Amino acid sequence: MDAEQPVSRSRTYINRAGAYRHSIAVVTIHKPDTMLERSSHKSIAVAWFVLASIACVAVAAHPLQSQSSSRIDSVPELDSAHLLGTLAALAADSMEGRLAGSRGGEKAGAFLMREFTRFGLQPLTRRFENPFTGIARMRERSVSAVPPCQAQRGGALSSPAAGRCAPTPPNPLVSGVNLVGIVRGTKYPDRYIVVSAHYDHLGIKDGRVYNGADDNASGSAAILAIAEWAVTHPPLNSIIFAWFDGEEEGMVGSTEFVRRSPVPLDRIAANVNVDMVSHNWKGELFAAGARRYPVMQPLLDSVQTLGLITLKQGHDGDIPTDDWTYRSDQAPFHARGIPYIHFGNEEHADYHAPTDTFEHIYPGFFYRSARTIADFVRLLDRGLDPVAAARAR
Ligand SMILES: [Zn+2]
Repeated sequence: MDAEQPVSRSRTYINRAGAYRHSIAVVTIHKPDTMLERSSHKSIAVAWFVLASIACVAVAAHPLQSQSSSRIDSVPELDSAHLLGTLAALAADSMEGRLAGSRGGEKAGAFLMREFTRFGLQPLTRRFENPFTGIARMRERSVSAVPPCQAQRGGALSSPAAGRCAPTPPNPLVSGVNLVGIVRGTKYPDRYIVVSAHYDHLGIKDGRVYNGADDNASGSAAILAIAEWAVTHPPLNSIIFAWFDGEEEGMVGSTEFVRRSPVPLDRIAANVNVDMVSHNWKGELFAAGARRYPVMQPLLDSVQTLGLITLKQGHDGDIPTDDWTYRSDQAPFHARGIPYIHFGNEEHADYHAPTDTFEHIYPGFFYRSARTIADFVRLLDRGLDPVAAARAR
């Protein structure tokens, strides 16, 4: 069982206009038996894949230059190699699936904080780490059709074994650590945009690491790159960059952040939340929230004209059964009337599965998603007045 045969397959990415295509070579690995072999072989495979991916991102980026316009020139440049390297590091087996409160979660936090130090992000408060303990809630998309036992009529508990109710989680409390930095605004330092992504995932279950490459190493890496860009291109308003913990247990970290906000809540003008932005074979990224906050629409229209990716709108209450509003960390901001845009791709076969690995993301799509979101953050900062006014009403 120690034979390890790389298997190549390809995926094709087609942009919105179908103007060009490129193939991405993907290497999948038959995992060897021992942890040692697995980690060393996988490291080599990941290194190979990162190099191949960077080449593909370079190919993917090339047609953008031919669409050159003054708009495209102003879109934040992000380091594609570093972007992919960050995602690979957070999704590595050594991060043990980044469960809130676990050793893997701690490792992921330490990795991110080393990055903050490298490019000079400042903590919002005395330290980057904002520990919390909060109440776990089932998220809408994780909720089964079976009601919890204690909710049975008349207070009588049905038997979980009978399948009529779901057992109560053994420990409804979740402890975790939000990581929060800030880039101070040059013109409105006391007005804030919160750019967020959760860095936790599902940990290890039945001996298998749930790497969470798309969910949400991708968003964590994307906002890290955007934070690095913002440090060297200071915004007009202050931008708080928040890596939330405990999202998988029901947005616990973001709920605690909003509940005990380190800045006055009425000074937070908007939230940009990034959750799963690297895995869509059609190249479609969703921007949800403008239906609830139409003041965001002109900004999305402007981003859309770039055509970096297919930016779609929806999942914000238009179809009640497929509403993402309460499914990620924008929920507690929305609950306080703070306008938000949530960027994410639709769920896929690897969603919440141990196969959500680095090898299964789409590097070109990820790079384009991150750049699109960076451009949205830049435009939001420049055009925050009407958003802040809408928030105040
Ligand atoms: Zn997620």
